[in-house]
Amino acid sequence: MIELEQGVALSRLTTIGTGGPATYFARPQTLEQLAEVLAWAGGEGVPVETIGLGSNVLAADGGVDALVLRLAGELAAVHVEGETLIAGGGATNAVCLHRAREAGLGGLEFASAIPGTAGGGVRMNAGAYGRDWRAVMVEALVLGPGGARTLSVDELDLSYRHSGLEDGEVVAQVRFQLAARAPVAIRAEVAELLARRKATQPTNKRTFGSVFKNPSDGPGAGRMIEETGLKGHRIGGALISPQHANFIENAGEATSADAVALMTEARRRVRERFGVVLEHEVRFLGPLALPPL
Ligand SMILES: Cc1cc2nc3c(=O)[nH]c(=O)nc-3n(C[C@H](O)[C@H](O)[C@H](O)COP(=O)(O)OP(=O)(O)OC[C@H]3O[C@@H](n4cnc5c(N)ncnc54)[C@H](O)[C@@H]3O)c2cc1C
Repeated sequence: MIELEQGVALSRLTTIGTGGPATYFARPQTLEQLAEVLAWAGGEGVPVETIGLGSNVLAADGGVDALVLRLAGELAAVHVEGETLIAGGGATNAVCLHRAREAGLGGLEFASAIPGTAGGGVRMNAGAYGRDWRAVMVEALVLGPGGARTLSVDELDLSYRHSGLEDGEVVAQVRFQLAARAPVAIRAEVAELLARRKATQPTNKRTFGSVFKNPSDGPGAGRMIEETGLKGHRIGGALISPQHANFIENAGEATSADAVALMTEARRRVRERFGVVLEHEVRFLGPLALPPL
């Protein structure tokens, strides 16, 4: 079986740069290696967590008692067949977009602003600028305790930052249905979207993207947090972004506990002022929770 590392710091694997050690860590490179390591975890009763670029994850400071996987090799490769882009679950959105553009295929431009992987995008139904994974995906190959299954986009039950994937299930491959588009047009749209991003969000700071989901109606989470006066508020090394209040920046030696404390305060104030209970978008790894309101 592939090597299992012990005590790998999750702060090195998350974009916010916080998090304690993973009890076990592995980088499977093939479907066989992935199946083997999942069988090992099943046999030992060890929970499995998969991490992509760690761009929407907050991991407990005390560590995560699980086998944490990061897909590599073939499981992070991308190839194109006709108008279908086939990406390993660990393939980054940047590489997917690059390969699509090289092949003259459009559809993934919106993902240029999302610093994740194909598999993480399925888990989160990642989206931006009115498009999401659901709009461009055909199916995903998912490995889990029950074996391997190919799930159609409907079976994945994708909705706003939600999928029906179960705990321990790993997206090993994703098929995207794209359409012919001139590379020059793709490049122009991507440049425009990235410029819009840079103008409104702290893209050059250590964050985990949106902290809370936007409620289905009324003002967005960022607007509400801003109106409670929390922009720029700091606890320990974590800061509510002065640029966009639905982001938390690691402004120094932040811990995940600092981020949770900011989230707790933001939820409390938004509930008090707007009567809205914010739901967190960022995924917690390990024993982290927000106190009930
Ligand atoms: C600056 C910035 C901007 C962002 N903008 C956006 C945006 O516009 N829209 C948006 O939707 N998100 C955005 N995000 C959040 C994040 O980039 C997305 O949610 C992204 O899809 C997460 O992908 P990831 O591979 O990094 O997953 P991770 O953050 O590593 O993990 C997220 C969740 O997916 C699970 N997961 C990861 N890989 C797999 C896999 N192969 N199989 C099964 N489960 C898996 C993890 O266990 C976790 O529950 C932003 C983040 C940052 C830092």
